[in-house]
Amino acid sequence: MTVAPPSQADLAAYREEADRFEAELLEEHYLHYAGHKPQLELEPIYERHAGLTERERVRAVGAAVRGDEATRWLWRFAVEGYLGNLTKEHTERVARLEAELEATVDGESIRFRMLQPVMANEPDRERRRRLRDVAAALRDEHMNPVMLEAARLHRGAVPTLEAGDYVEVYERIGFDLEGLADQCRSLLDSTERLWEEHADRLFRARVGVGLDEAAQWDVPRLFRAAEWDADFPADRMLPALDGTLADLGVDLRSQENVHLDLEQRPGKDPRAFCAPIEVPQRVMLVIQPIGGLDDWRALFHEAGHTEHYAHVDSTRSIEAKRFGDAAVTEGWATLMENLVREPAWLDRRLDVSRPRQLASEGAVIDLYFTRRYAAKLLYELEFYRAPDIEAMRGRYVELLGEALKIEPTPANYLFDIDAGFYVTEYLRSWAFEAQLRDFLRTEFGNTWFTRRDAGELLRELWSEGQERRADDMLAELTGSGIEMAAIEDRIREGLALA
Ligand SMILES: [Zn+2]
Repeated sequence: MTVAPPSQADLAAYREEADRFEAELLEEHYLHYAGHKPQLELEPIYERHAGLTERERVRAVGAAVRGDEATRWLWRFAVEGYLGNLTKEHTERVARLEAELEATVDGESIRFRMLQPVMANEPDRERRRRLRDVAAALRDEHMNPVMLEAARLHRGAVPTLEAGDYVEVYERIGFDLEGLADQCRSLLDSTERLWEEHADRLFRARVGVGLDEAAQWDVPRLFRAAEWDADFPADRMLPALDGTLADLGVDLRSQENVHLDLEQRPGKDPRAFCAPIEVPQRVMLVIQPIGGLDDWRALFHEAGHTEHYAHVDSTRSIEAKRFGDAAVTEGWATLMENLVREPAWLDRRLDVSRPRQLASEGAVIDLYFTRRYAAKLLYELEFYRAPDIEAMRGRYVELLGEALKIEPTPANYLFDIDAGFYVTEYLRSWAFEAQLRDFLRTEFGNTWFTRRDAGELLRELWSEGQERRADDMLAELTGSGIEMAAIEDRIREGLALA
């Protein structure tokens, strides 16, 4: 039976309440992952806004989706809210396990959330392997049964929303999943030799093994890039960010809507994140600065999100502020993150000894992520249509292993899925960044990031938020939409600097 679409007034009320719900969820995530609050408590939030996740209401919002872009984004929110509500206890349980579980490795007790950073800092390969094995065993024993149950609940619930399967839901929202998957297949083909050659070289330089020997437990070590530590000290991270933003005309310290959470705290997630609790009035930037290349990149990435959200015009729609195309905000984040290995930026902000080498190594890391996310999209498309979820553990190993020539950790086959095909937002954002960077260089020169007028353009684009798709924003600036091939061009340009 078809459901009638809601009235405009109903839709407006739904939109308003969705905004409040999202703000409360982000606040709770911020408090928990920043280590201010030991438990992640989602249930009271879902209960306060139970009307948003009633099936009939979600179906009604779906019935209102036609050509209207804003309603499509709202429907995505409604579907994700509906599914999130079904498995909120699962999400809480997994967060609790991640925060509380401790592993014993070689007689030493390590919190689960610290296993990855400890692995990255461990020069001894054998011990890294033990750390990985312990993390995988904990995931299999504790988290995976919960995540499997959640995946099954979602699988059963999607058809009751009259939207086909999970893949169809996102196609109806306007995600061109098959088109993107085709572009990913060509990218995987055209960059395979490039990956084999350059990954082998970088693994040898940073980890001491070639690609044929490299294992999953070597990957955090590869990213850790310990040999660059002296070039990226912790105490210069924030001054460099202040200076970079100042060049663009943004005074970070006087932004009353930006809150920096920099302290060390037990239970704080070591990964930097941005929580745009109120857009643009209250945006949190959370990090524990430890220094090193990876940490610098994470700070600049999250600062890109932070400045984007902090600049959104407060009179814009809720879709512009929260629910629109996430490739836009990921693009802004990547643009900032990639400054950290731009030779001209390095000359200005740091005294890095070999900036061209750093840039070309950065291109190898981009190649890793591009190939990994391309393979993840292919995996996720299969995952949501597979008759037997558990059988996908093997496909995960095949598809990711084929792309990277490194066997992934099988226990991560559920954890390594980004809900809502967020993987496509990253892939599109990387192309968006590559194309936007070309545009900025043409308009403002290779040191565009030192130009006040470039900053003015960025602030104007940031103020739009993300209601307009990244493709449309780019098309207006450059005359062409998002092309995955732009990522490959950018990577080849970086590799050639070595
Ligand atoms: Zn991001």
